Amino acid sequence: MYKSLVIKVGTNVLTRPDGRLDVTNISHLVDQIALLKKNGVSLVLVSSGAVGAGMELLPSLVTEDEVARRQVFSATGQVRLMELYRQLFAGHDLVCAQVLATKGDFRDQRHYDNMYNCFRGLLGDQIVPVVNENDVVAVTELMFTDNDELAGLVARMLRVEALVILSSVDGLYDGPPEDEASALIRLVEANDKTVMEFVQEKKSSRGRGGMATKLKIATKTAREGIPVYLGNGRRPGILNALEAASWPGTIIR
Ligand code: GLU
Repeated sequence: MYKSLVIKVGTNVLTRPDGRLDVTNISHLVDQIALLKKNGVSLVLVSSGAVGAGMELLPSLVTEDEVARRQVFSATGQVRLMELYRQLFAGHDLVCAQVLATKGDFRDQRHYDNMYNCFRGLLGDQIVPVVNENDVVAVTELMFTDNDELAGLVARMLRVEALVILSSVDGLYDGPPEDEASALIRLVEANDKTVMEFVQEKKSSRGRGGMATKLKIATKTAREGIPVYLGNGRRPGILNALEAASWPGTIIR
């Protein structure tokens, strides 16, 4: 079993089709994470869903500017999201913490060192860091491509044993995922450039990421010796199957 992990959960796993937070699924994921913690795994959760949670809180926002709307949704939604995580983790006698980062924090050595030290402190005290992009200050060029990029950077910073990226699909398919004839690709070698041809351009409905960025981040992370598990965050008990033989998704190594 892996002893250290970064687990990234995308917006489509955390919200329902109508955009509201999917409390049932979030609760199920926290149950699985708590079980990993009880088994001694050191882990960091990278969670999207702030913008979605903000939209749920503020259905008739008067602010019209697109950038400001996103900032308002994320600033309010992040509170809602963390409130939920705090309560759910507390149900397992676990404490969680909020870590918000921008791309600049990974470029600035002092910010990087401060963040690293904070992670070490949190993990040393068995606290679950819940990381998200700081959407309030991260606009345009300061933005990560998506939280997959953020998760890859955190995984490489902490040199964890594996990175898990949960979305609303099982993984990489050799054709359109909705097409019954398409087969799931179970294993991808990080240096195999030909896999990019299987990537479908269509992105998930609400998250910013897509399979192309997932695969780019995953191959980069795997080349540094950290295997990446792509899986469906709505599959019951998926985090209990974190082994090459039983993983119901795509492994990049
Ligand atoms: N940071 C955004 C949020 O919390 C999500 C970014 C992404 O979709 O990767 O809503």
